[in-house]
Amino acid sequence: MPRRRGDPRPDPAAPRRPCEAPDCPEPGEYRAPKDRTRLREYRWFCLQHVREYNLSWDFYKGLQPDQIETALRDDTAWQRPTWPLGRLGGRIDPELLRDPFGILQGRLDQPQKRPDPARPPPELRAALDLLELSWPTDSLALKTRYKELAKRYHPDVNGGDRSAEERLKDINRAYSLLRNRLAQTQASARA
Ligand SMILES: [Zn+2]
Repeated sequence: MPRRRGDPRPDPAAPRRPCEAPDCPEPGEYRAPKDRTRLREYRWFCLQHVREYNLSWDFYKGLQPDQIETALRDDTAWQRPTWPLGRLGGRIDPELLRDPFGILQGRLDQPQKRPDPARPPPELRAALDLLELSWPTDSLALKTRYKELAKRYHPDVNGGDRSAEERLKDINRAYSLLRNRLAQTQASARA
């Protein structure tokens, strides 16, 4: 992945281990502080995931420090793939911004409400929008739509247009987010 202005530098002191994002095989060469109270302890990510992680920090603006810490410590907050909300501009779901993890309403301490299968999980909405898919969806529909869009925004058919290239990157991310999520759902349905 090419570096961009404002990207962090790979850290020469990085431990030799893979990126901490789930199932990411890239080396974790970029560090990010664990949370606002432990700025000298680090998590290690590849360039793409450290970007996403850093974006997710902006996501916590407006929360009290202890609420941010709770959110970051709560494993489900990270294990849910984070979506780079900053890139999607106006598509941020206001419900998510108001209370991203149900912290303000204390929902973290309560048993999870059974999710309504007809409503897309909040963390998937931006990806579904981007791929113009409705919910529920399945692996075949996802793959079909991905192939269409990947063809439409491929640099070869867009004369190297940068915005098509950025769009394709977002499409790739949305696709892998949804693909992983659908695979998890299928695995837990079999279990
Ligand atoms: Zn990674």
